[in-house]
Amino acid sequence: MEEKFRELRERLLVVYDLNKAANVLHWDQTTYMPPGGAASRGRQIATLSRLAHERFTDPAVGRLLEELRPHEESLPYDSDEAALLRVARRDYERAVRVPPAFVQEVAEHLSASYQAWAQARPANDFRAAAPYLERTLELSRRYASFFPESRHPADPQIDLIDPGMTAELLRDFFARLREQLLPLVREITARPAADDSCLHRYFPVDRQGEFARQVIARCGYDFSRGRMDTTLHPYEISFAPGDVRIALRAKEDALGELLFGAIHEAGHAMYEQGIAPALEGTPLARGASSGLHESQSRLWENVVGRSLAFWKFFYPQLQAAFPGQLGDVPLETFYQAINKVEPSLIRTSADEVTYNLHVIIRFDLELALLEGKLAVSDLPEAWNERYREDLGVVAPDDRDGVLQDSHWYDSLLGGNFHGYTLGNVMAAQFFEAARRTHPEIPEEIERGEFGTLHRWLVENVYRHGRKFMPLELLERATGRSLDLEPYIRYLREKYEAC
Ligand code: ZN
Repeated sequence: MEEKFRELRERLLVVYDLNKAANVLHWDQTTYMPPGGAASRGRQIATLSRLAHERFTDPAVGRLLEELRPHEESLPYDSDEAALLRVARRDYERAVRVPPAFVQEVAEHLSASYQAWAQARPANDFRAAAPYLERTLELSRRYASFFPESRHPADPQIDLIDPGMTAELLRDFFARLREQLLPLVREITARPAADDSCLHRYFPVDRQGEFARQVIARCGYDFSRGRMDTTLHPYEISFAPGDVRIALRAKEDALGELLFGAIHEAGHAMYEQGIAPALEGTPLARGASSGLHESQSRLWENVVGRSLAFWKFFYPQLQAAFPGQLGDVPLETFYQAINKVEPSLIRTSADEVTYNLHVIIRFDLELALLEGKLAVSDLPEAWNERYREDLGVVAPDDRDGVLQDSHWYDSLLGGNFHGYTLGNVMAAQFFEAARRTHPEIPEEIERGEFGTLHRWLVENVYRHGRKFMPLELLERATGRSLDLEPYIRYLREKYEAC
């Protein structure tokens, strides 16, 4: 058994290394690569990904996983070895269901679809993008057909990125959340909107970067095992727990862009840096799911990074870094500005409260498309209708409406947005649990100390990687299953005081 387990680990290590090497190429592509490298780089990344997929779906891997079943059963459920076998088998069984020719077809279609979207959006031409979306819908249904046991055509996509979640569970959960959010948004927006003009003065980008670095290092992002660079669309990427990088975007007339982008991506990165070293080189060495990952970035960005306690400590330093811009702005004004709630058209720049409504709209429309209840040609109208109903705003054109996000044009349908809101909800749940064990956390944050919170997260979330299913991990850490109440409490406490 030991021999077989070693062989399996070696095979999985090759897969891991191929995938991580592709990550390095991708990071370089989006940060320092000269434009001339684009064509070859795309091919090189595809080659590594294909090799990783081939190695992983090798029947020898399936055989070893079968032969090691008795070994797995002899081990404690929460041991690293049992978890490795459990998760690798789950991944393997999913991966072999989808024929390689289909994977290729999807990749080629989505690449063309993305190009079409990139032209259709500036031209405000949904009709040009629609045939691509039709085909994406058809391919998404075909993908679902490889998993005939699923109850909803979105389930296989959802399960891929949030194992254990289903369309039914999410639809019900989001409906309850929406019921609570709509009146809350109405209450908040009945009051005069905060003035956030202080965030839109001129802030030299270099100094913004310096300040963001200090903030995230203090939160616990380890620069000896990471680095921060500039890119077009911010993201976090891991090559190993010892090298987890973030790439960000700055705007000289919008202070929040880099600052909160940095705290958000550092939240993702601290998760990856905190994975137990023993899991390195295995399929367990990454975050448990998209929802779990977002819960960590949003916990740091919103729950911690937009709290008054946090800025009681950092604001004097921020003022010192930008005396001309913020010297005359009191802390209270700054705090209101970074927490301004206002129904708007664009998801990515929405505040933390209305953000969820943007997500729920997209989630519902995606399900309706997959269920055949909504035709692609009726999508713009359905989009505008829901925006009018939920946010009271309607996009002047499809550019800021149905063509707004790249997701529907570069991915299969079903699992594109729910993770963001799931993350918001779980973030509040984790933070409440951490505070229950360590009531001193808010006072520590006011002193710029994040060690207790960071250690609680490492201990209860980060170090486990993918050892447990997302909801299982949530329950082990917080003592409860997925729960809306901490999030609603968090929003009410925060915005009733605002
Ligand atoms: Zn994120």
